[in-house]
Amino acid sequence: AELPADPELTNEIRQVKNTLFSYVNPTKPSNPELIHASEEVAELVGISKEEIQSDEFLNVFSGKDILPETQPYAMCYAGHQFGNWAGQLGDGRAINLTEVENKNQFYTLQLKGAGKTPYSRTADGLAVLRSSIREYLCAEAMHYLGVPTTRSLSLILSGDQVLRDILYNGNPAYEKGAVVCRVAPSFIRFGSYEMLTARNELKNLKQFVEYTIKHYFPEITGEPKEQYIQFFQEVADTTRKMILHWQRVGFVHGVMNTDNMSIHGITIDYGPYGWLENYDPDWTPNTTDSQNRRYRFGNQPQVAQWNLFQLANALYPLVNEAAPLEKILDSFIIDFEEDYKIMFLSKLGIFTSSDTDNKIIKGLEEILQLSETDMTIFFRNLSQIKKEDSVEQAFEKIEYAFYLPQEIKDTILDAWQKWLSVYLKRLSSETLSDEERASKMNEINPKYVLRNYMAQLAIDTADKGDYSLVDELFQLLKNPYAEQPKSEKWFAKRPDWARTKVGCSM
Ligand code: AMP
Ligand code: MG
Ligand code: MG
Repeated sequence: AELPADPELTNEIRQVKNTLFSYVNPTKPSNPELIHASEEVAELVGISKEEIQSDEFLNVFSGKDILPETQPYAMCYAGHQFGNWAGQLGDGRAINLTEVENKNQFYTLQLKGAGKTPYSRTADGLAVLRSSIREYLCAEAMHYLGVPTTRSLSLILSGDQVLRDILYNGNPAYEKGAVVCRVAPSFIRFGSYEMLTARNELKNLKQFVEYTIKHYFPEITGEPKEQYIQFFQEVADTTRKMILHWQRVGFVHGVMNTDNMSIHGITIDYGPYGWLENYDPDWTPNTTDSQNRRYRFGNQPQVAQWNLFQLANALYPLVNEAAPLEKILDSFIIDFEEDYKIMFLSKLGIFTSSDTDNKIIKGLEEILQLSETDMTIFFRNLSQIKKEDSVEQAFEKIEYAFYLPQEIKDTILDAWQKWLSVYLKRLSSETLSDEERASKMNEINPKYVLRNYMAQLAIDTADKGDYSLVDELFQLLKNPYAEQPKSEKWFAKRPDWARTKVGCSM
């Protein structure tokens, strides 16, 4: 194949025109140490359990050695950040090692935090242990929750110090550096196409869209224009399903910029993400977004549509007709709302439909906020309610989920009693038995999610060189829907000390 127009292996920061990537080698870590690896992901990409323990694994996935016959590269993309056009961004701290094919699936292996690339701008290309643990654990947790996501292969300490903060006294605060290897069909983003269109590189745009379809969406065939529309439809559909899962499990991405939107409809780029604890649609884990709250929980479907609109704009020069793209965008929210209703009702154990459905959903969304209710605990414990329960009995089964002190609880009791009596009446018309309903509910309402304080505890102990909690959480979150009696302590409300959340993005 033709080499990219851009000079190879010159690593200075620059605008990289007329191509979508630059060859760049990872920076060699000074003393790599394997913290954790996912055996399941290793197997996906054709690496055995035994090989994980080898020096070769450590060296390749820390960036020390390059696999023979491969040429690592960073991708060039642009994007809209917080609603504004940001121009070229690119992989500032991500380097794709290679792509492997296993059992008819493609997997790109990407190091995050392995040093500077032409896209690093003013930053260092590195990642700290803290953010690497957060990404490593959360991506795998999401997978086991059934949420489409990038996967984590490995978490490796680099042995180097990374500067992230200057203390108030002017001293630098160093943190341990780490490298995560993440795995996805590809790391192509909405912003990859946006960049080509913004630069009017239309020949490249066409070539790239055609490559994407041929390589990753082979089921799309037909007239070129129809293929482009079909491609957009496919991205819209998978994105919609992904967001529906986010809303189901209470995941808030926090940085839904178009450069963080995968064309595969998978969750990508775990930065300041968070999990809803007290149910609050206005909550965002992103402290830099606390004014506008663009990336708040309740706004994720709208933002996804906005991002798809940017992708539609990027594809427009190929399609040359607005109507088919607009149609897909318009039905995005309509379809989402329909799916959302069914999803939300199923979280409640309601599998038939009735006129009162919207009232039950809206009413619940309101009181969940009134009583500062832990989302995960509430839905999980809701399955213990029986059709024959009195309102009082039902209330006792859910009140543990409230963060409010007793006095305030008393004032909202009335609202809860009203909702519960409607709910109990509704349950009585469900055909499933209590046991059947509970087991169906427990398949979609997780018992364990990666609460921020849990990740923080794992980070604090890992920082002292003890990785047992990283492994404990990894194992726990492999079965988020199962009862794990020995791990009951992780089915608990956020402790008081973790109330103001400690997010992190870098
Ligand atoms: P994000 O908001 O994390 O998706 O990052 C936005 C852009 O900043 C992307 O182009 C990243 O590659 C880049 N970036 C983030 N952190 C770093 C870093 N430590 N070094 C270099 N580039 C970075
Ligand atoms: Mg990103
Ligand atoms: Mg990031």
